[in-house]
Amino acid sequence: MCRHLAWLGEPRTVASLVLEPPHGLLTQSYAPRRQSHGLMNADGWGVGLHHPETAPGSAPVRWRSSRPLWGDPSFHSVAPVLWAGSVLAAVRSATPGMPADETAAAPFTDGTWLVSHNGRVDRSVLPATAAAAAESTCDSAVLTAHVLDRGVDRLGETVAEVAAADPGARLSLLLSDGARVLAVTWGDTLSYLRTAAGVVVASEPYDDDPGWVDVADRHLVVATRDGVRVTPLEVPARAAS
Ligand code: GLN
Repeated sequence: MCRHLAWLGEPRTVASLVLEPPHGLLTQSYAPRRQSHGLMNADGWGVGLHHPETAPGSAPVRWRSSRPLWGDPSFHSVAPVLWAGSVLAAVRSATPGMPADETAAAPFTDGTWLVSHNGRVDRSVLPATAAAAAESTCDSAVLTAHVLDRGVDRLGETVAEVAAADPGARLSLLLSDGARVLAVTWGDTLSYLRTAAGVVVASEPYDDDPGWVDVADRHLVVATRDGVRVTPLEVPARAAS
């Protein structure tokens, strides 16, 4: 199980989101507080952002690594001067059998969306076209390709279908296109925090601010700069627990 986070709002530094919070992704890489699968997230990290200097609709940029987040001094040096109003970041605990290189580290992208997955899924239940389109053979990359091919407007429906085909799957997802953050909870924790400056959606709270709101399992989150909407997923009877 990995840990992820997305920010949408006023431009802020990547360090202020990932490195500085007392329980941010840096701390979560070795001591997550709410992780139920795996003890740490030492198999890589990734940061993607829709940069303010790029035109609306242009592709997000990414910085990923297969190393532990705590062992990357160059990133620690640059993150305090990396600013963006849309950031999606993750630290990874690789599922056994999945590739170890940086292309298997979230966020994945189709050139518009940044996507991270907390969990695991049997790749054989996903279409061959998704495997062919994916950036990596990692299950999360194939799931990303499938979800984006189906369209984000069908995100909840797609996750429920995949869960029906692989009842052991854990399918919590986090997506951003720079205008919206979407998230699905399916087998893992998620919380969000709204402030005057924007909204952060994360696998777990990065500090002890009382404003964090926990999202129940099997829900869809849609966050924009104007607000957050949380709705239960419509789960087909065969996928209900
Ligand atoms: N299955 C994905 C991987 O191998 C995600 C793992 C996770 O959520 N820990 O990277």
